[in-house]
Amino acid sequence: AVGARDRLRIAIQKSGRLSEPARALLAACGLSWRESRDKLFCYGESLPVDLLLVRDDDIPGLLADGVCDYGIVGRNVLAEHAAERAREGSHVASREVRALGFGACRLAIAVPERWEWTGPGDLQGKRIATSYPGLLQQWLGEAGVDATVATLTGSVEIAPRLGQADAVCDLVSSGATLVANQLKPVETLLQTEAVLAGPVLPFGDARAELAALLLRRLEGVLKLKDSRLLLFQARREALPRLLKLLPDAEPPTVMQVDGADTLALQALCHGSMTWQRLEDLKLAGASALLVLPVERTLS
Ligand code: ATP
Ligand code: MG
Repeated sequence: AVGARDRLRIAIQKSGRLSEPARALLAACGLSWRESRDKLFCYGESLPVDLLLVRDDDIPGLLADGVCDYGIVGRNVLAEHAAERAREGSHVASREVRALGFGACRLAIAVPERWEWTGPGDLQGKRIATSYPGLLQQWLGEAGVDATVATLTGSVEIAPRLGQADAVCDLVSSGATLVANQLKPVETLLQTEAVLAGPVLPFGDARAELAALLLRRLEGVLKLKDSRLLLFQARREALPRLLKLLPDAEPPTVMQVDGADTLALQALCHGSMTWQRLEDLKLAGASALLVLPVERTLS
């Protein structure tokens, strides 16, 4: 462990699927940085929160060693690290603090298309290629299946065609890569997305307050992601029906327009405001519908 620190350090992926969304999310929390020349370290300007740009596989280790306080990484990478540590009998040093809503995919077993899959037992005595040996071993153990795990760091999906393995255990999102390699997904080991990983124990120094501030802002940003301010008018008697169509809305502000019967309303809605929903509201008696983006809230 490292001594008392008064700056927070967050590890994110240097380049890859999670780098841009991770940066954008932190920027939306009001963080800005002065980049170093080698772009491995970004010094926080608006707040004492620095970034370390690394390979995603290194993030759990950096957290475990106390080099970084938080990391933005796939649940799959965090869980793999935890599975390996559990196998060595060592304790887990970091935990998932919050799911972040991007980078979604799943860790799945995929087999050649012609395989008539009946269940995990089909893998008995087979050879499975993966970059996630810890999670695969764990799953095989739970399923009571004895199979050989071949650890590959890349190009896992071509292993069956090369005769290196009978099946693979790999990340799948659209499934296009599997189809291109004549494979089909048959079992899901883990649903994953990008998460904020952080310490198990609270900070005992100035980082505590900084962490609380950051988490509060993050909560606000994530909560607002799909939120819109909905403005509309309606006759008083249509109101109960309309509010039933807005289960995701905060209690609306209601203003009287002409006399007592026409009302103008504004409501903060947290679900996405699709055309279909607007059309349903119109049919139920709403008019002059207006949907506005929400930049920030603070209560
Ligand atoms: P690095 O160079 O940092 O090690 P990488 O090649 O291991 O990068 P990426 O391919 O950029 O990593 O993927 C990073 C994360 O994105 C994955 O660990 C996973 O959580 C998520 N992800 C989302 N969709 C997919 C997908 N279709 N294939 C692979 N990863 C995906
Ligand atoms: Mg990686």
